[in-house]
Amino acid sequence: MDKQRDFVLRTIEERGVKFIRLWFTDVVGTLKSVAIAPAEVEGAFTEGIGFDGSAIEGLSRTYESDLLAYPDPSTFQTLPWRGDVDPTGRMFCDITTPDGEPAVSDPRNVLKRTLAHAADRGFTFYTHPEIEFYLLKSSKYGPEGPQPVDSAGYFDNVPGGTAHDFRRRSVRMLEDLGISVEFSHHESGPGQNEIDLRYADALTTADNIMTFRTVVKEVAIEQGVYATFMPKPFSEFPGSGMHTHLSLFEGDQNAFYEPGAQYQLSKIGRQFIAGLLRHAGEISAVTNQFVNSYKRLWGGGEAPSFVCWGHNNRSALVRVPLYKPNKGQSARVEYRAIDSAANPYLAFSLLLAAGLKGVEEGYELPPEAEDDVWMLSDRERRALGYSPLPASLDHAIEEMERSELVADTLGEEVFRYVLANKRAEWQDYRSQVTPFELTRNLEIL
Ligand code: GLN
Ligand code: MG
Ligand code: MG
Ligand code: MG
Repeated sequence: MDKQRDFVLRTIEERGVKFIRLWFTDVVGTLKSVAIAPAEVEGAFTEGIGFDGSAIEGLSRTYESDLLAYPDPSTFQTLPWRGDVDPTGRMFCDITTPDGEPAVSDPRNVLKRTLAHAADRGFTFYTHPEIEFYLLKSSKYGPEGPQPVDSAGYFDNVPGGTAHDFRRRSVRMLEDLGISVEFSHHESGPGQNEIDLRYADALTTADNIMTFRTVVKEVAIEQGVYATFMPKPFSEFPGSGMHTHLSLFEGDQNAFYEPGAQYQLSKIGRQFIAGLLRHAGEISAVTNQFVNSYKRLWGGGEAPSFVCWGHNNRSALVRVPLYKPNKGQSARVEYRAIDSAANPYLAFSLLLAAGLKGVEEGYELPPEAEDDVWMLSDRERRALGYSPLPASLDHAIEEMERSELVADTLGEEVFRYVLANKRAEWQDYRSQVTPFELTRNLEIL
């Protein structure tokens, strides 16, 4: 018996764990869960747990709908919000077909495959997300729109406030689940908060993001409020991004670090950024997957709208943060377009593939943006070569449709599913007659 499996079985017994939730993620990024009894766990490790894949978004075509979920013992944790009485455990699963092949449509498998491709070239991929979200009084709202829990702003300390207690409780729970938190603070919007997870390999981070979303939603319910990761819930306040810091390691050396180079950024680092820039439009329908995502990208509030990079430039799509002296191993680049509603497995796969493409093909990094790119005119931006990110979901779909990089990375099945799913969303959106049109047009026309 495998050591990790053994450890899980022993822990379940010693702690009296009564339910074990098996977690996996569909193509849209929704967490799925099935609870099994302790007696079933050993069998789940060896034979998997069968389920109907066709019932789950994007997971499988109807004619190959039988799938198996195999729990990954390295992800076992007990869920703190379920309490100590009759504890509940959880593990993330890998999905396979009945003959044991990894399911092509399992997002976790897409990421594993992309990471293996990077590993063949000697690279490990690390990510560190800054996750923003809004706390609302309720998920229900009237004519005034959603109601944030407070009216505080960036880094505000709200004594005794909901946000403060909320962050304390969430951070504590995340730590109990083995997820280290680096920072947490109030963000610019009223009720808006940010929690930054410590960097880890991309598969761990993607799992951690799925857990994070669940923890935040659970803590909100516990405190009588509601948490949303919707990219842009308010037109007048900033959206919720998930800026992600990316780095490649070769063994224990950070491949982006080169002492003495400009910004201590190695050639690999420069080529990786060039890859992110060149493919940013193609990957947008995944990093920014909803109609609403584009309201964030084009709604100001420090969300990036133009494809360029800069050193510590917060108007750029890719930012190279200032490294602390003697902290070369922390060399990284920050991708600022991705939002808090992305499927982290698919989005990280595409960010890695885009960056690696730049490295493999030796892309040249264009000059950095030194100005605030929002303040330039369209003409100035064109002259400087800062092209716009897709303006809306339909533009993003168009760019993705033509992308070999995205098709190769996601695999034909997921590629086609995402496109069909996003086209349907755009179609539904386009057919709406909105309050905007009614107020502008009804009485006048
Ligand atoms: N909320 C902003 C965004 O959507 C980021 C603000 C910040 O972290 N500086 O990207
Ligand atoms: Mg931040
Ligand atoms: Mg922020
Ligand atoms: Mg940031």
